[in-house]
Amino acid sequence: MPPRVVVIGGGVCGLATAHRLVREGLAVTLLEASDQLGGLGTFFSSRDRWVERFYHCVMPTDAALLALLDEVGLKESVGWRPTRMGMVVDGEHHSFNSALDLLRFRPLRLADRVRFGVVSLLLRRLGEGKDLDGVRTEDWLRGLYGDATWSTLLAPMFGAKFGSAFGDVPALYLWQRLGRERNDSVRGYPAGGYKSVIDALRASIEAGGGEIRTSAPVRRVETSLDRVLVTVAGGDTIEADHAVSTVPLPALRGIADEDLARRLPDVRLRYQGVVNTLFFLRKPLSGHYWAPVLRSGTDFDGIVEMSALTGTEPYDGRHLVYVMRYTDRESALYREDEAVISRRWTEQLLNLHKGLTMEDVDEVRTFKAPFVEPVYPLGYLSRRPAVEVPGTRLLLATTAHVYPNVTSWNSSVELAGSVTDLLLRDARRSPTQENTAWSADSAR
Ligand SMILES: Cc1cc2nc3c(=O)[nH]c(=O)nc-3n(C[C@H](O)[C@H](O)[C@H](O)COP(=O)(O)OP(=O)(O)OC[C@H]3O[C@@H](n4cnc5c(N)ncnc54)[C@H](O)[C@@H]3O)c2cc1C
Repeated sequence: MPPRVVVIGGGVCGLATAHRLVREGLAVTLLEASDQLGGLGTFFSSRDRWVERFYHCVMPTDAALLALLDEVGLKESVGWRPTRMGMVVDGEHHSFNSALDLLRFRPLRLADRVRFGVVSLLLRRLGEGKDLDGVRTEDWLRGLYGDATWSTLLAPMFGAKFGSAFGDVPALYLWQRLGRERNDSVRGYPAGGYKSVIDALRASIEAGGGEIRTSAPVRRVETSLDRVLVTVAGGDTIEADHAVSTVPLPALRGIADEDLARRLPDVRLRYQGVVNTLFFLRKPLSGHYWAPVLRSGTDFDGIVEMSALTGTEPYDGRHLVYVMRYTDRESALYREDEAVISRRWTEQLLNLHKGLTMEDVDEVRTFKAPFVEPVYPLGYLSRRPAVEVPGTRLLLATTAHVYPNVTSWNSSVELAGSVTDLLLRDARRSPTQENTAWSADSAR
């Protein structure tokens, strides 16, 4: 008999893990709490179309994700387009794509604009070989760009993800992020949306004999040396040889039994959540795929005009714009009612884009997610929790493990690959009595 594995969480990390394990011949059950697969890449229905709740795109450097898409026959479905970036500062709109745009960028003094251009071109190289994991982002960038550029532009622009803690996050995070983006404006989007990827992974898991259960929140995880017991709401307990948990560590702590809770890594990370509102518009906004919004009287601090990348066909001819703010799940904004946020952010968007009127707004939806991005402390590379939980057959594959990579579908897929390799190695090295025949077979 092949080893039985339970995968907890049906976001991309759980799906990619289950997909790989099923291909290796293991008996996999994937348990997802909500009624949909996809996690942060999940979707909702509008005019009979499936639309992502949170904006998502693929980067040309997303090698692990593209390889997975290839395995499920979707690599060619990714449409690639050069995108453009804008910047809204003090209510004024700027294009931010070329040297000429930078030279015209009045929020910075001319000397700072020139310095900005030169440093930005060299930034990746300037970080090479340095211990950026131990350097605060603020110290690194302030030194290179100067005080004015740091406080006028960089702190609010990149800080959007981590809030006021951004300056304290290791500079390695930003360096890695720039490596992913490689000064390349090309972005990709799968023709059938992210739902097509989720559906293809589901189909592949089920075709390989794996079982997927949605609306199956795990309520308890117990571990011993050679077993993992996973109990789903309603009382059904699955006994497995191994388990992989992809749920954020604070959530796992809430379902671990006492013994497991003691064994979990003692890393108390703060997480940023997100509040994000979508607007289906009857006309385009600015054509900029991404525009940070600084000091412009809005609660949101970024705009993504998705249809600048995807076109309007996926949204029944409408233009799709997301505005967002990353924030702690305990913050006043996060706790606010979705309808109230939708109304206020609609007013703020209309104020910001004077050419836009209420008649141009077809539909508005607000979604939130509590655990999006861990706020990494200095020196996290050496404190990053191991994926193995000592003395158990439980492996962890969460966003807290992908650092220094940026949290993305690509890093989750990469992590799923390494966790799967570890699990297979352990399963072959120490098979249970029932798995001995499988182990001998698979080692051949
Ligand atoms: C606004 C926004 C924009 C983004 N943009 C991009 C982008 O452009 N490109 C990109 O690649 N990435 C992007 N990301 C990041 C990307 O979505 C995440 O990094 C990725 O989805 C993380 O996947 P995951 O499977 O690790 O976690 P998650 O997607 O969080 O999945 C975890 C799953 O576990 C489930 N779960 C939790 N508790 C339990 C339980 N007790 N029992 C069972 N199941 C449980 C959850 O319901 C969830 O489905 C974006 C994210 C956000 C929020």
